[in-house]
Amino acid sequence: MSNLLDNPLYQDAIAQLEESAAIMGLDPNVADRLKHPKRALQVAVPIRLDDGTVKTFQGFRVQHNMTLGPGKGGVRYHPGVDLAETAGLAMLMTFKCALVGLPLGGAKGGICVDPTKLSRQELQGLTRRYTTEINTFIGPQVDIPAPDIGTDGQTMAWMLDTYSQLKGYTVPGVVTGKPITVGGSLGRSEATGKGVAFCVNFAAKKLGMKIDTSTTVAIHGFGKVAVPAAHDLEAQGAKIVAVSDVSGAIYNPNGLNINAALEWTKKGGLLADMDGVEKISNEELFALDVDILIPAAIDGVITEKNAHKVKAKIIAEGANGPLNKAAIDIVTKNGCFLVPDILCNAGGVIVSYFEWVQGLQNFFWDLSEINRKLHDILKDAFENVYEAHQKYDIDMKKAAFVAALKRLERAMRFRGLFP
Ligand code: GLU
Repeated sequence: MSNLLDNPLYQDAIAQLEESAAIMGLDPNVADRLKHPKRALQVAVPIRLDDGTVKTFQGFRVQHNMTLGPGKGGVRYHPGVDLAETAGLAMLMTFKCALVGLPLGGAKGGICVDPTKLSRQELQGLTRRYTTEINTFIGPQVDIPAPDIGTDGQTMAWMLDTYSQLKGYTVPGVVTGKPITVGGSLGRSEATGKGVAFCVNFAAKKLGMKIDTSTTVAIHGFGKVAVPAAHDLEAQGAKIVAVSDVSGAIYNPNGLNINAALEWTKKGGLLADMDGVEKISNEELFALDVDILIPAAIDGVITEKNAHKVKAKIIAEGANGPLNKAAIDIVTKNGCFLVPDILCNAGGVIVSYFEWVQGLQNFFWDLSEINRKLHDILKDAFENVYEAHQKYDIDMKKAAFVAALKRLERAMRFRGLFP
């Protein structure tokens, strides 16, 4: 894995780990171990395209640490996927699961592919072959994949079916984020965005701000995380003044009609082609004079190049790593309160955990129970992070790492070193 450090996301995760370790006086043996992924698998994924030709894609699954339980983390289909990015994201999953107190370790997978260029049939072939190639590496007690960028409930249903065909019986606990009819959990598809909205509320309370009709919100993204977060904040009265997709952003200072934009994109429309709304660039979106900024699309969008333009009072990291380390230092210095990714977007993996438990028990809970438990877990985690933020006088990102590392350190010490 010599090329791991070439990746900015991986490098940032290591730098955050080292800084937080120094602040809290982490056992150096624990810190050293956490810099290395436990194991990584690279697979060739050949598929027959609709035109009859065969094309081979590169797939990965990395398990970073399993001290707290089976590996857990999404599967990403994106042209930027490589081993180093997957390893960095797996490391973030270790910290995310530890931070919110789940009995799960950190893992991540992905395929270097643009899924929008494949037909449904080709995507099914890709997913089934990928699952076959990694099937000995995953399992309900080993490592449990879930959706991430470019994958969804349908992808998980194909993974479930392929794994189950290989076993000879249905194994619901092998993946989460499944459609409800094949063992999915109520509330899973909105969980990440709902968690973001909860965290925005916790942060606002600490800052003495109210979420009401005077609150303005800009969201980078308009997908699985952004839309439910927008809906929940809109339901509280907040004005969602901007959202974006690959084509650019739409803006209305008096608040956008999120449902109308959703209708448009559901029909396959790009936001840039929508009528009756002002168009701005993604860069202009980041610089809007709003109360809350939610980067909820992809990593590395706010860096030392544009961080000084951010005016929001609260930044809620809906995506994994949307601000790099340099950007976090800049926005924090400028007085912005950051809710870090491993806390802010942990709602997804929390309800994934609920789905896994429900699948193992074959007993399913109602939505109000799920949302109440999700709220309570996130609230506890937020308070832990806030306590470390105050105790060590550090930004919330470092504080989240400190809180996660404390739990990991305890567990790793108790378990000891084998042999
Ligand atoms: N892909 C999501 C994340 O980055 C969810 C992972 C899961 O549910 O296991 O947290």
